[in-house]
Amino acid sequence: MGHCQIKKGIFKQSCKQSTEYSCIYCGIYFCIDDGNIYPQYAHVCKQKKCVFKFADLQSHKVWLKETRTLNVKNNCGQSNCVSHLKHTCKDCSLSFCSNHINFFRSKSQTELLLICSHCQDRKKIWDK
Ligand SMILES: [Zn+2]
Ligand SMILES: [Zn+2]
Ligand SMILES: [Zn+2]
Ligand SMILES: [Zn+2]
Repeated sequence: MGHCQIKKGIFKQSCKQSTEYSCIYCGIYFCIDDGNIYPQYAHVCKQKKCVFKFADLQSHKVWLKETRTLNVKNNCGQSNCVSHLKHTCKDCSLSFCSNHINFFRSKSQTELLLICSHCQDRKKIWDK
């Protein structure tokens, strides 16, 4: 049990309603007015960064399913790409052709990291 920590209004005061919900992403307490309670205990506060994360996870699940279907047929995970898969993304473990995967040097510069564009885009949301 805690008190809602969502800040409101021009004076940015905490809402302070007592609540048992805390956000699975940022960890703050929020009341039923200041967030969403999804089935299976996914509690997400209404702060933009958390709303985006939740929405991203939902679309990511759909994307994974579609991409797996392409990979099973030995095709690159980019939809409409007719090339065969060649490289595997280190984040989603799905495979893509050379055109649809990005190469990065790791911090130690010793190994190449392969990350697909989809995972690359998601980083903008999750690195916040
Ligand atoms: Zn949150
Ligand atoms: Zn509240
Ligand atoms: Zn990926
Ligand atoms: Zn491709």
